[in-house]
Amino acid sequence: MKKIRIVSVLLLAALLLSGCESIIIPPNPPRQTTEGTQTPDEPHDPAGTIKDTEPPVTNPPATNPPVTNPPVTNPPVTEPPVTEPPHGDGDVLLWHPTKSGDGLEATVEKAGTEPAELIRLLGSAGVIPKRTEVISCKLSSNGRKLTLDLSSDFASFIKEKTPAESILAVGSVVNTFLAATGAETVTLTAGGAVIPSEGKLYDRELPFFDLTEHEAVDLKKGKYVSITFDDGPHSSITVKIAEKLREKGARATFFVVGNRVNGKTAAAMQYAAIEGSEIAIHGYTHTVKYSKCTDAEYKEELSLTDAVIRKYVPGPVTLMRPIGGSILKERIASCPYTVINWNVDSEDWKNKSHKTPEETEANIETTVNNVKSQVKNGSIILMHEIYDNSYEAFCRIIDWLYEEGYEVVTVSELLGSKCVPGVRYFNA
Ligand SMILES: [Zn+2]
Repeated sequence: MKKIRIVSVLLLAALLLSGCESIIIPPNPPRQTTEGTQTPDEPHDPAGTIKDTEPPVTNPPATNPPVTNPPVTNPPVTEPPVTEPPHGDGDVLLWHPTKSGDGLEATVEKAGTEPAELIRLLGSAGVIPKRTEVISCKLSSNGRKLTLDLSSDFASFIKEKTPAESILAVGSVVNTFLAATGAETVTLTAGGAVIPSEGKLYDRELPFFDLTEHEAVDLKKGKYVSITFDDGPHSSITVKIAEKLREKGARATFFVVGNRVNGKTAAAMQYAAIEGSEIAIHGYTHTVKYSKCTDAEYKEELSLTDAVIRKYVPGPVTLMRPIGGSILKERIASCPYTVINWNVDSEDWKNKSHKTPEETEANIETTVNNVKSQVKNGSIILMHEIYDNSYEAFCRIIDWLYEEGYEVVTVSELLGSKCVPGVRYFNA
């Protein structure tokens, strides 16, 4: 049976370890402050059927820290290994959505801070190779500078991995050790090579990814559907959706708009991926229609969005949903992704208005009933992750689906081995 690679989580999200809670970990760690201006999430007109009247979101894609270069071969660090932990008992930061749902925040739990233990935890979380060892870990006499040397396994790992995976690995090691020691800067080496890093705390969430393989589902043995969310990511609604999915043991597929990905929304997108959901391509601007645009525009929309996703989420990008669901037939055949439409339209975008409680309730129920009346085994359900009403409707829909004996899985899990480039599906 074909296995599908899905990103899931061992821990809630970014797990940073601290050795001295009073001075090391800020209650609200810095996040995405390098991304520049952040405008509020702007709803897009949803895929499809209505005229685009809203302006495209113009946020620039977030920039990556420069950790993608292969290690250069500087002389190895020769300090002797530190045998004692830099501090006493430490803490673990666990990331989770804020109560207000407007982002992520961290809580602190106790953990050991012995360097080898920190590396072991990072390895068991899937961020770095499990065989990585601490060669030396030395703090300067004033406590501000840390020099960390890891075994060559780490250098090889960084060299092989995608930029997103490298960022996660390097950033997680840097943040973990700075938090654990209280140092301000770090020089990271491995196998005698300097590992390029920001040298200080990364201004981003660094989740722990575990590249777990999920089996494709068998529609003859159970009832399965996919819920797909277009037009995100959204800094708060995406996180809330991911939370609800986790509560149900479910996973969704998110078709994202590249130019919506900035510091905050990227963290939300990562969070959904951590929870096992699938991140896929919708378009970069959401204004270019693949049934009308030039080949150059079409290719640019896909490649820019692919690149943005890969910056933040490890693993391949395999699925694409055309804007409005329409695409030239000849483009499907040559598409490097599997083209995914839907056979159940929730029409949530028609029911997004929430001016009064009565109107809100009526609109949510309309969306819920649209799905209930159409869904069957193998369905691909279309929703949008940018409306509050859509989130409420989604919660009721997924509760109902599980009551009815359905399981909610990603499109890749639903389609299994049928999920190949150059083919379009409306359902499994
Ligand atoms: Zn759309």
